[in-house]
Amino acid sequence: MSTDPQQLVTRFAPSPTGRLHKGHAYSALLAYHRAREEGGRFLLRIEDIDTVRCRNEFVDGIFEDLKWLGLTWEEPVRRQSEHFSDYQTALDRLKAMGVVYPCFCTRKDIQREIEAAESAPHGPDGPIYPGICRGRADAVPLLAEGKPHAWRLDLKAALEHIGEPLSWHDEIKGEVTAKPEELGDVVLARKDTPTSYHLSVVVDDTLQHITHIIRGEDLFHATHIHVVLQKLLGYPTPIYHHHGLLLDEHGERFAKRNKSVTLESLRARDIDPEALIHSIFPR
Ligand code: GLU
Repeated sequence: MSTDPQQLVTRFAPSPTGRLHKGHAYSALLAYHRAREEGGRFLLRIEDIDTVRCRNEFVDGIFEDLKWLGLTWEEPVRRQSEHFSDYQTALDRLKAMGVVYPCFCTRKDIQREIEAAESAPHGPDGPIYPGICRGRADAVPLLAEGKPHAWRLDLKAALEHIGEPLSWHDEIKGEVTAKPEELGDVVLARKDTPTSYHLSVVVDDTLQHITHIIRGEDLFHATHIHVVLQKLLGYPTPIYHHHGLLLDEHGERFAKRNKSVTLESLRARDIDPEALIHSIFPR
């Protein structure tokens, strides 16, 4: 497969935790057509690190739905669950840099700490982790005894290590200054999974040479952390394009749990994919 550094590469990266809906179709079509229009490549990636919530039947559903929409993509399709060692390698590098720490907290521990605090800063992902395990003196013995733990980014240490303000270019918003403190010490490897969304997406976008990340604006805030990870790991920062979300007739976002808006149900009602595409992109 060619990896011409000049060539535009986009991707659609769904998580197989349910059937795709019209909102996914919109995102996938934007990324697909962008690649087509600019002589680039379009990749499909299955983000299935959560082996409990992700199901093979939904992976098959993704292939089926995208084919129905008329999309084609390069093979082999990368499935994140087959690449845990890649994320482990990146995590090991971050450990060696001293910018991550083990976190032994349960959800309850975190909740208790937040309730007891006078002020608990909230970010777009909810309350920011209050740093209970940062700099814990007993971390080494606890690790040695095998106490279950996640790995968190030590954001302060990471920013000191980087030593310069970070930004990215967003095709919609222009130059964006990164504010990773809005997310804080995010989890990079979960207790039950040796990686997290943030780590695996950054590793994969680099390994797959993605030049333009086209995704919904619901993930805009995650980019504040992604640029930090890219800088730490010496990865290039791609161009971002966080598109507005497609809304239903009530002005609500499409949700996987609403079965009536899945592409599968539209197909079952004999809706013509062309008509669907036209309703999403009226010309
Ligand atoms: N897997 C993520 C999702 O389904 C999208 C990841 C991304 O585009 O960065 O919401």
